[in-house]
Parts: sequence; C-alpha cells; structure tokens
Amino acid sequence: MNREGRDMETEQLYVDDSYLREFDATVVRAGPRLVVLDRTAFYPEGGGQPTDHGTLEAGGEKHSVVKVMRRGPQIFHYLDGDIPDGAAVHGVIDWERRHGFMRLHSGEHLLTGLFEAADSGPKVFSSFSQLDFKPSPLDEETVQGVRRRFDEIVDMDIPIRIFYTDREELDVGDDERKQSFLEKMPPDVERLRMVEIGDYALTFCMGTHVKRTGEIGRLKGITLEPKKKRRKIVYFEL
Ligand SMILES: [Zn+2]
Repeated sequence: MNREGRDMETEQLYVDDSYLREFDATVVRAGPRLVVLDRTAFYPEGGGQPTDHGTLEAGGEKHSVVKVMRRGPQIFHYLDGDIPDGAAVHGVIDWERRHGFMRLHSGEHLLTGLFEAADSGPKVFSSFSQLDFKPSPLDEETVQGVRRRFDEIVDMDIPIRIFYTDREELDVGDDERKQSFLEKMPPDVERLRMVEIGDYALTFCMGTHVKRTGEIGRLKGITLEPKKKRRKIVYFEL
C-alpha cells in the first residue's frame, strides 16, 4: 500500500457515463481480497442503489468483484482473490444487473416526482419496490392516476437529463428528507448533480440512470397499502 494511494480520491467514471461497461485502471491501494483503483466504473452501494458486480482482470487472472463500497474519498472493490498494489487492471461490469438497477432507479425518480405533483405528502422512504409518504392524504384514485401518467411518460420516451447546479441555488422547500441529505453532505461539495425527467421529476442524485423514459418500461403493478392511515405505502413493480 503506497502512501499516495491511501488518500487518493477514486475517479468515478459512472458519474459522467452510466453506460460505461468496461474500463482500464491502476491499483493504488491493495489489501487482502480488496483493491482501490485510480478510477472505476463500478458503482458503490448507496443512495438506494445496490452494489455493482463484475470482474477485474490483472496479469491474465480474472477475479470476481463481489461488493463495492465507498469509504471517504475512495471506492473499495471486494474480490474473491488478491491483486497486488500497482497492478494494471481491466474491469468489466455485470451489465445485466447494473442496467436493471438503472431502470428501477430512474423509474423510482419518475414515480416520486408524479406523486409529489399529486400532493401525496413528503416521501419518507423509498426503494426499488416501495415508496412511503407521511403524512399523506393519498388514495386509490390518485395512485391509479399516477400509474396512467407514468405509463404515458414511458411511452413518450423523453430524455432523462443530468446537469450540475450550485448548492446555494438549490431550493428543496420544506422537504425534510432532502434537507437532511443536504445537511449530511460535506461542506466542500459546492456543485450538485441534478437529474431531470422533463417537467415531471427533478432531484439531486449521484446514482446511475437510463437515458430515456422508454428504457424504464411500463409499470407491471402498483398498489396502495390499504391498512395505513397517516403513512401511506405504495408498492410497485417495474
Ligand atoms: Zn438517482
């Protein structure tokens, strides 16, 4: 493990190109079954998106990447074997897995935006199959309205745009979830990466997304948890 490698920030290739499936990099820090690279296309677990899987090849030997985690400025790749410090590696992302996550994650953005526009109350939890709002006046009619709108926007196949904005210019209103995200963000992060789906969804996010709504695909199902009073839970399948 060299001294420089200990602190070197990993360049995150997936931020500018979510569709990058293969890349070349150099090991800047190595441990038992673990490497840090100077650059990576592997997305680390976080922001509701699970870890990427794939392979790293070094010296003619291929190793499985079983987990990817962010630790401070670096991204740790956990492997099924050892790769020495300084080695040149070729990384390949398990694309089927990643693209599935990109679809689900982008779909979650769109659904959230549509529910927010339908005055469903603040979102307090979300995953690839569930959105929770509290307090919320959400009813079945609104859920079905959102479903129709979602499928229409998928059929319209509109672009999903990524751009950057100054942190100071961002207004998240009274959304406590977004407020707490911003508070937890290190003060030196001055520019925020925004994800915009037409007029329907806009939020800051570092995750990986598909390029157009058509790629998300229509909803296979959506249901409202009937027993809850204040906290409304929506289950969905894409
Ligand atoms: Zn996102």
